[in-house]
Amino acid sequence: MDVELVTVGTELLLGFTVDTNSAEIGRVLAAAGVRVVRRTAVSDDVAAIRDAVSAALKRTGAVITTGGLGPTADDITKSAVAALFGARLVFDPVVWASLEERFARFGRVPTANNRGQAEVPEGAAVLPNRWGTAPGLWLEGEPGLVVMLPGVPIEMRNLLASAVLPRLVARGGASVIRSVTVRTTGIAESTLAERLGDVDERIAPLSLAYLPGLGSVDLRVTAWNLPAEEADRRLAEAATLLAERAGEHAYGRGDDDLAALVLDELRCRGLTISVAESCTGGLLGGRLTAVPGSSSQFLGGFVAYADQTKQRLLGVPADLLAAHGAVSEPVAREMALGATRALGADVAVSVTGIAGPDGGTADKPVGTVWLGFAWPGGSEAILRKFVGTRDEVRGRAAQQALFELWKRLRLLPE
Ligand code: AMP
Ligand code: MG
Repeated sequence: MDVELVTVGTELLLGFTVDTNSAEIGRVLAAAGVRVVRRTAVSDDVAAIRDAVSAALKRTGAVITTGGLGPTADDITKSAVAALFGARLVFDPVVWASLEERFARFGRVPTANNRGQAEVPEGAAVLPNRWGTAPGLWLEGEPGLVVMLPGVPIEMRNLLASAVLPRLVARGGASVIRSVTVRTTGIAESTLAERLGDVDERIAPLSLAYLPGLGSVDLRVTAWNLPAEEADRRLAEAATLLAERAGEHAYGRGDDDLAALVLDELRCRGLTISVAESCTGGLLGGRLTAVPGSSSQFLGGFVAYADQTKQRLLGVPADLLAAHGAVSEPVAREMALGATRALGADVAVSVTGIAGPDGGTADKPVGTVWLGFAWPGGSEAILRKFVGTRDEVRGRAAQQALFELWKRLRLLPE
């Protein structure tokens, strides 16, 4: 089954409110086999709402709206849609009673303003809203199906799950829309596509999307309108194939976070870690400490930005800094070794580079980053070159440092 979304609210067009409802409805419906094929945002304007819903009904025959159901003058979705269906608005005593009851809980009495909220288009089914004042409405007729939901995200979400989804699923068949994600890093989107080769044909009828992020490319495979069991089987096969072809770059599935995977590798070897950061200024420590339970592995870190701080906190020799510069192989390595010494950690990672936009030179252009690693029995520094803005270079450096560390940890005995 296909539906279109029409989100109502001038604030959405002005950009004051981000349209999270559409994203959420898309995800929830897809999981249940209902496909959102188009979305439209309109202002709080009767004609705009009517035109958008009318056009969507002509194309797709089923529309979900959010917003414009409140008690104020700008809440006009109901009357715009009722007009399309040629339906009168009629006072609904049950809705009114639940409004009175809800108001009573807050020691208030509904006013004439609220009376409008108890009016529903003739023939509409009322979807009770225990989470707010405006009920959802399910209106079906000659023009098609329109489901009206409140704009407040929590009310929309609860109505969608409790009332809309069961009704939509009951209309559709047993097929589902499901996705799996294979996460990759350390490889550019185009290089990855070359490596993957003919996977598109191999995984058909599933579809493959490349979703590049900061220092990562997620591969999202989607099964459209297949029986649940077949979808799951084909998705599992496709994910295995993608991970095989992406090789060492495929580090996880779904929501897997590299920082959490690094901590897992440390945990199963009983190792502790510290970090020494120059150009990432704490991003790496932030990524690691964002993972619940990181305290058992993560001892702490240093933001060693100035040369003198690299000397004082990490014991990087002054002559090394003078001879090679802060962005260099020996300094990256010494920073990592210094971080293990200073905190008594088994493992350390360091980052030193030129994030830009200034500070680049001919032999060390913006984006030049050295990553240093120290572990029981070894140390190493590697050079990476990143493109992008200051934010991007820093984010990519942190991600790459985690990836290179993860690879090295997996080679250590458990
Ligand atoms: P309404 O139902 O139009 O009175 O919307 C109530 C509130 O819900 C608005 O003030 C917005 O903050 C929020 N809202 C409305 N539409 C959306 C949307 N599409 N996504 C996220 N929030 C929304
Ligand atoms: Mg509104």
